[in-house]
Amino acid sequence: MRLDNSRESQNIEDRRGSRLPLGGRGKIGLGTIVLALVAIYFGVDPSIVLQTMSDPQETQYSAPAGGPANDAESRFVAKVLGDTEDTWGKLFQQHNWGNYQQPRLVLYTGATPTACGTGQAAMGPFYCPGDSKVYLDLSFFRQMAQELDSPGDFAQAYVIAHEVAHHVQHLRGITDQVDRLRQRASATQANQMSVRVELQADCFAGVWANHSNEQRATLEDGDIEEALDAATAIGDDRLQKKSQGYVVPDSFTHGTSAQRVKWFTRGFKSGDTAQCDTFGAQSL
Ligand SMILES: [Zn+2]
Repeated sequence: MRLDNSRESQNIEDRRGSRLPLGGRGKIGLGTIVLALVAIYFGVDPSIVLQTMSDPQETQYSAPAGGPANDAESRFVAKVLGDTEDTWGKLFQQHNWGNYQQPRLVLYTGATPTACGTGQAAMGPFYCPGDSKVYLDLSFFRQMAQELDSPGDFAQAYVIAHEVAHHVQHLRGITDQVDRLRQRASATQANQMSVRVELQADCFAGVWANHSNEQRATLEDGDIEEALDAATAIGDDRLQKKSQGYVVPDSFTHGTSAQRVKWFTRGFKSGDTAQCDTFGAQSL
């Protein structure tokens, strides 16, 4: 990936190295459930998340200075985030969707408070609609390279773009709409809705890659393959096979590897969010 022409985002909040005093056990809120779903995405048992969650209000925490980070890893993240800001800012303008309100991205290590409860590195990267922030512990990228066999800068950029896509869904009202529908749905139906949300985020990540490359020539040979490899590695079927040795389709929340590749590719080839209607699609 080539980021010479991309601007560093000012929306990075660096909380790495700060400690989180653990508060008491709190209520399980909607945010917790979102986090639990994210946990399932990365193959973490959601009960771990639900058990360790504490209410953010009960947690005594003083935010560290959180100034702009300046090491190679965080500057890379800032550039990718800046690139998504420019891409989505432009697309929101083109579609008359109003101003694109940029999300913030929190870098942390271990655990950190969020409006969705305590974020834990074991959950993998996630987006919290409650505070419009993406949470990222950089150890996930190392884990991706080592355990999931998805090294490469563009694979990392794809993960960030996927989380930013959840922010776009939030701004577009999709997240709220799905949450309302999910309340009346059976567990299986709710799960299928989650899959559609996730595949749409993959498609939006593809749309970003398309525009980023058109505007700033960010892609190098092999980059799309890197993203597709990452999409394959973190498909639910792969993760489940890895953790259980067999596949249970009803418990999928992010779609299979093939579905993730399909929707990312669709967004990337078209560069058009209208092609990302996973809710209207007959087949995923
Ligand atoms: Zn997701």
